[in-house]
Amino acid sequence: MNGPGTNGTAGHDPAANGAAAAVRDVVIVGGGTAGWMTAAYLTAAFGNRVKITLVESADVGTIGVGEATFSDIRHFFEFLGLAERDWMPACNATYKLAVRFENWREPGHHFYHPFEQLRSVKGFPLTDWWLRYPTSKRFDTDCFVMASLIDANRNPRYLDNRLLEQEFVESDDLPNTIAEYQGAQFPYAYHFEAHLLAKYLTKYATERGVRHVVDNVVDVGLDERGWLSHVTTAEHGRLTGDLFVDCTGFRGLLINKALAEPFVSYQDTLPNDSAVALQVPMDMDKDPLRPCTTATAQDAGWIWTIPLISRIGTGYVYASDYIDAEEAERTLREFVGPAAADASANHIRMRIGRSRRSWVNNCVAIGLSSGFVEPLESTGIFFIHYAIEQLVKYYPAADWDQSLRDQYNGAVMNVMDGVREFLVLHYRGAKRADNQYWRDTKIRTVPDPLAERLEQWESKVPDAGTVYPRYHGLPPYSYNCILLGTGGIDVRPSPALDLIDEKDALAEFQAVRDKARHLVRTLPTQNEYFRRMREG
Ligand code: FAD
Repeated sequence: MNGPGTNGTAGHDPAANGAAAAVRDVVIVGGGTAGWMTAAYLTAAFGNRVKITLVESADVGTIGVGEATFSDIRHFFEFLGLAERDWMPACNATYKLAVRFENWREPGHHFYHPFEQLRSVKGFPLTDWWLRYPTSKRFDTDCFVMASLIDANRNPRYLDNRLLEQEFVESDDLPNTIAEYQGAQFPYAYHFEAHLLAKYLTKYATERGVRHVVDNVVDVGLDERGWLSHVTTAEHGRLTGDLFVDCTGFRGLLINKALAEPFVSYQDTLPNDSAVALQVPMDMDKDPLRPCTTATAQDAGWIWTIPLISRIGTGYVYASDYIDAEEAERTLREFVGPAAADASANHIRMRIGRSRRSWVNNCVAIGLSSGFVEPLESTGIFFIHYAIEQLVKYYPAADWDQSLRDQYNGAVMNVMDGVREFLVLHYRGAKRADNQYWRDTKIRTVPDPLAERLEQWESKVPDAGTVYPRYHGLPPYSYNCILLGTGGIDVRPSPALDLIDEKDALAEFQAVRDKARHLVRTLPTQNEYFRRMREG
């Protein structure tokens, strides 16, 4: 055995085949979204076969934002055995069908990146057909049912909780978790109050045996090989364990500070390094509850708008090289209007990039300590969920097989590097070039392989062969949406479409329109749906 202490494994017989036994004593440091999602998931996965302690500081706050999610989050709740009726009301949650991008092309323009798989006709994606036969000015409403639903503020569920018809989820050989939606349900995600989710999961995990210590970690102990042996708390003394999970946020207390793992910055390609956030009250009886996250382009970044049951979460993500915090806050307050008058601003410095390796020795970093990119596609909580799934998949035994760590690190790195590329495309693709910030987005370096892919996409819309090749959560159609929506890169339809009868493609456009019309007519608005839920 070359690992740290064997605390908690004593007395456990290795598996019958002679393999080393899985480690059984886990210490999670940090009680934000990452810490509690990890504690809850590991408990759901392993029950009381693993001893879990979570220590969080009452003095160091959580990041306090993180409200929009990616559609795979539904697997997280399913895994925990939680139905929407269990957790959604407790977290002021609403439904999310897309990201709505405003003003990335020009003032007044908007498009959606929906959670809906792209149809294909005669082997070509419908977006390719749309480039050849643009049936209207909007690729999103022509190619996706969801776009019209969102324009009309529709809810993805009927009031009697009938699910949307399954025929909407088209088959396509998409990778991993997204593929699992096929034949399941209509893809959608959620907006929720992250701190309420952490509170909900605290109850979930502690009821299932997780030990909860509220204390400050003041020191981290290493053994002679540089593996973590314990963390020292101010009031509860030493907490020992086999596996330590660093969920301490941007601080990276274990991974970066104690183990000195370097941080790989993405700032050369994604310069937004700051945010200012506001929580604005909203009245569900008056204000529309849009079933999407909105990203509105600004002079030095963009503003998110996230509708929740009780309030709107909003914030300006900006590059401090272009504007200062005061100006960002002023812009945000003007954008929100009078409703922001009494809201206090939360200024946040963001660390953009990832730890070189997220798993070092017996320490796994999950959440902001592992890595973060600006929340333009709501990937923060997706990174956490994905990392936890991988941790279970590559869970260590007492012999600490290096190959498990390497595979885990490869998977986590691919996801973050892939999402980075996708985000860079938003800026490179944006037609907007009306000031220095937006002009610079056209000349800034892009991650290496992206430059080549950008050239390829000018001649042919993205497909599985030309997007970031390793799993990163985003299917090829996401790239089509951003390219067609942002409008700054001249994409052309495949010449072959000149030679193929367009009848079926035009019929498919019509089918999308018909389906959308039917759903807009029959589905409730989000306001109606949640008002009815509230009334019971
Ligand atoms: P934190 O929330 O920072 O928690 C750190 C924890 O560590 C706290 O409990 C703290 O008490 C504890 N801690 C620190 N030091 C000590 C110590 N010495 N002793 C004991 N405990 C300690 N994600 C999305 O998916 N969607 C979004 O829309 C989204 N928007 C975002 C907007 C912004 C501006 C930012 C910055 C992030 C956003 N994210 C979003 C990301 C999301 O907020 C995070 O991924 C998520 O909150 C996880 O944070 P965390 O738990 O890693 O860290």
